[in-house]
Amino acid sequence: MQKSAPFTEITRTVALSAETHGQRAKCVQRLIRLDMPVPHTVALSFETVRAIAAGQMFDMSALLSSFGADPLVSVRPSPELQEWGGPSTVLDIGMNDAMLLSLSETIGSEAARAIYLRFIQSFAVEVARLDPEFFGPTEPTRDALTEALAAYEDEMEEPFPQSPADQLAAVLKSMARAWEGTSARLLRQAKGAPVEAGLGLVVQRMALGLGAPESGSGVIQFVSSETGHPQITGRYLSQSQGRDALARRKEAMYLSRDHRGHSLEEACPEAFAELQSLSDILRNGLREEMQIEFTLDTGRLSVLDAVKVPRSSRAAVRIAVALAESGVISKEDALLRIEPRALPELLHRQVALDAARDVIAKGMAASPGAATGQLVFSAPAAQACEAQEVPCILVRTETSPEDIRGMHAAVGVLTERGGMTSHAAVIARGLGKPCVVGTRDITLDAKEKKLTSADGRVFAEGDTVTLDGTAGTCLAGAPRLMEPSLDGSFRTLMAWADQARDIGIRANADTPADAEVARRFDAEGIGLCRTEHMFFDEDRLTVMHEMIFADTAEARGAALERLLPMQREDFVHLFEIMRGKPVTIRLFDPPLHEFLPTSRDGIWNLAEALDLPVSTVTQRIDALSEYNPMLGMRGVRLGIAIPEIYAMQARAIFEATADVSLKGAIITPEIMLPLVSARREVELIKSNIDAVAAAVRTERGTRFGYRLGVMVETPRAALKAGEIAEIADFLSFGTNDLTQMTYGLSRDDAGRFMGTYVQQGVFSEDPFHTLDADGVGELLNLAAGRGRSVRSDLTLSICGEHGGDPDSIDFCRKAGFNYVSCSPFRVPVARMAAAHLALTEVPAEKKPRRFNILGRVLRSGG
Ligand code: PEP
Ligand code: MG
Repeated sequence: MQKSAPFTEITRTVALSAETHGQRAKCVQRLIRLDMPVPHTVALSFETVRAIAAGQMFDMSALLSSFGADPLVSVRPSPELQEWGGPSTVLDIGMNDAMLLSLSETIGSEAARAIYLRFIQSFAVEVARLDPEFFGPTEPTRDALTEALAAYEDEMEEPFPQSPADQLAAVLKSMARAWEGTSARLLRQAKGAPVEAGLGLVVQRMALGLGAPESGSGVIQFVSSETGHPQITGRYLSQSQGRDALARRKEAMYLSRDHRGHSLEEACPEAFAELQSLSDILRNGLREEMQIEFTLDTGRLSVLDAVKVPRSSRAAVRIAVALAESGVISKEDALLRIEPRALPELLHRQVALDAARDVIAKGMAASPGAATGQLVFSAPAAQACEAQEVPCILVRTETSPEDIRGMHAAVGVLTERGGMTSHAAVIARGLGKPCVVGTRDITLDAKEKKLTSADGRVFAEGDTVTLDGTAGTCLAGAPRLMEPSLDGSFRTLMAWADQARDIGIRANADTPADAEVARRFDAEGIGLCRTEHMFFDEDRLTVMHEMIFADTAEARGAALERLLPMQREDFVHLFEIMRGKPVTIRLFDPPLHEFLPTSRDGIWNLAEALDLPVSTVTQRIDALSEYNPMLGMRGVRLGIAIPEIYAMQARAIFEATADVSLKGAIITPEIMLPLVSARREVELIKSNIDAVAAAVRTERGTRFGYRLGVMVETPRAALKAGEIAEIADFLSFGTNDLTQMTYGLSRDDAGRFMGTYVQQGVFSEDPFHTLDADGVGELLNLAAGRGRSVRSDLTLSICGEHGGDPDSIDFCRKAGFNYVSCSPFRVPVARMAAAHLALTEVPAEKKPRRFNILGRVLRSGG
């Protein structure tokens, strides 16, 4: 049962907060405090709206009488954060036959009919949920009005409600219920709203916008939504209400005379000047760039509502930085206004301008960026691809909530149906993935897993395509993609983030190209270089094969001798690109059989290349095969069983160190051992590496040091972290393998049932995506504690996929880790997330923070 008064008249002083009445109600109060000409407004709290949704309607008469005699009112949604959306606004409540007569006298019969007709249409569609086809916009003739009333009566089997109290009650109930609906809930949760998010409602006396000149309505903002740069933007439409000026842009006029065509500045210079004068007051008073909805009634200005200027991510960054640089908000505020997970939209790759474009489908550009992947036609297929780390483009007729996990798994989404606000479009934008919708020129056969382009070409599951979410096209093949360019505001904001954060951010970079991206995103170093990725080039693979097939230590040595200069060049490049920043190189990790062919053709080619009988090659491959390769001879085990491999890698690292040091840079390479489970493994490898270092120092006549680290990827390494830390400079948690081994769950096979497991609540999240803080996290804490107890200066970090996830960064910060390392494109997100965490941390004695589902702290009100 509701305890407080069901509604609050908004005045300068009444107690009101975004947490109880929503952001819109709070904003109206701020407008009133800034002496804006706001019509009388009343706010309904979350509690009231919840009660209404549960069927407890309060008496409308007190509410209506606060507006004086015979008012027309509007109702707008007021969620805690504007971004969470809400049901559509309803205008002109209170309009009925009697009001038609009285308004006809004051504003003329046509204007009065237009208002009545509009109200019937929106009541029928938004409240009575009748088919919009019967209630489309028409000229406000007497006949149209009679027809609309008759259509309503026909469909509802009762006359159109005449009582303003009944009308208002019905509107409030329908908006309260709409907020509780499943799709509204899913949509707002995708935008970060918590499960229990409430809705407030704002009831306001209508400023009519119809009547004697100059009457009308419009929307104005003072910056561009696209770029965030200063620019008067908006539209005004004579004899209109609400946001008609935007909906009917063709009839509407521009605001300033800078544009061709008639403008409000010319039509009504006083009103334009008054609006213009609001710019600084609004910006300084509301500490935001606002878009305001206004009306003119016979030239008199009313400000009805203000919402944050809708903005692209690029504009959001520009606006936040400009507000901070002009002293309106603090740098900290500017940082907290940029959701870390929104940054990827700014950072996405695009199809290179000069790339050949073989367009196979055209649609709407629903979410920007470009991605290349294999075609898949179902969400489970997308999840299966993701489990195998194969990028995929999910193609559906349209998407529904069941597809959400598949959309998470895919690198891009294409739908045959849908528009800019369709499920696929909204979700993909939220996820920052390229998305193209409404590609009607293709024929989709999801059963046969086929897509036929307009020119008749057939593309099957597994074919490679590129989705260009910026242009709204799907291209055959893999055209060259262009890395994003980052402007000054972005760099400024990221520099502020770096000042605010208190945990290091490095990048996982395996190649010079990755390292370039890492540098561009200002990673503080490379936290993981998976060296095996350097051996997959065609020329190196052949030498790898020779090494694997070598019968004697000499033959193996000869092959490794050929690999040495190639590896040395790799490391020279990495050191040069990173210019003195730390580079952590992980020695060879995968089982050798991963380098061997599996197909008959591949085996035959290999036999030919090595000049060996096919049977010898087959036998060798059989001999290398293991029942559980991920638990077999890989990582440090390989380094101990075939010490020449690590010796070659160590030599390449040290020779590169010596080479680059000659050019003046001081390099202390970090060498990391994978899949350790016992201290003795580290001792053995360490003495080998020490010997190589000593040899290179003597040969080159140079001095250099190195740091030895251990990847904690097995539960035993975590348990024995104390012993291991005695002989290691750093521990880096490989949470991909550690999650796999803690759960006893193959990271390559988990995709098959992960969906079911998460759906049935066995796991709250996929632990390969979100660090399992309870289980794997306990091992991390335990190992960190044991390691630091023997060595207080032990460097701790995480380099599994979790390193770029804000929740995992939160965990690592709290556990006292020195840095996280994540894929290069996630570096800005991680830097920003780390800044947010540092800025929003409250001392332990204060009350606990409230988090939304993205792990972000909810803003406090006031
Ligand atoms: C890990 O296991 O977390 C890790 C970083 O190594 P990889 O993913 O290469 O096994
Ligand atoms: Mg690993």
